[in-house]
Amino acid sequence: MRNPSHAPRSARKNATGAPSSPRSSQDSRFLKGSLLERERVCGKPNCRCARGQKHRSLYLVLSRGKRQRQLYVPKDWEQSVRQWVANYHRIRDLLAHVSDLYWNKVQRRER
Ligand SMILES: [Zn+2]
Repeated sequence: MRNPSHAPRSARKNATGAPSSPRSSQDSRFLKGSLLERERVCGKPNCRCARGQKHRSLYLVLSRGKRQRQLYVPKDWEQSVRQWVANYHRIRDLLAHVSDLYWNKVQRRER
């Protein structure tokens, strides 16, 4: 069984020269949630974390009503997840803005 704390090898296949899109910075996927960084010590006495350089882990947090879900974000997913979360906020702000326009139209009886 694969240890889930290790990144799957397939995630690094782009380095082999497979045609990965140069437009990956325009990734339009989106994801609702907020990002939470946690620091921890692993317990190994000779590790850098024992000297104060704690390990940093990123989590995606989603609150829905009283329930809160947390999801660990592996290092090689971090860039994508940060982008998707940012995309979500941008889309949400855009929707709110457009909705305001229609609110005003109804208020002014404009179709
Ligand atoms: Zn450590």
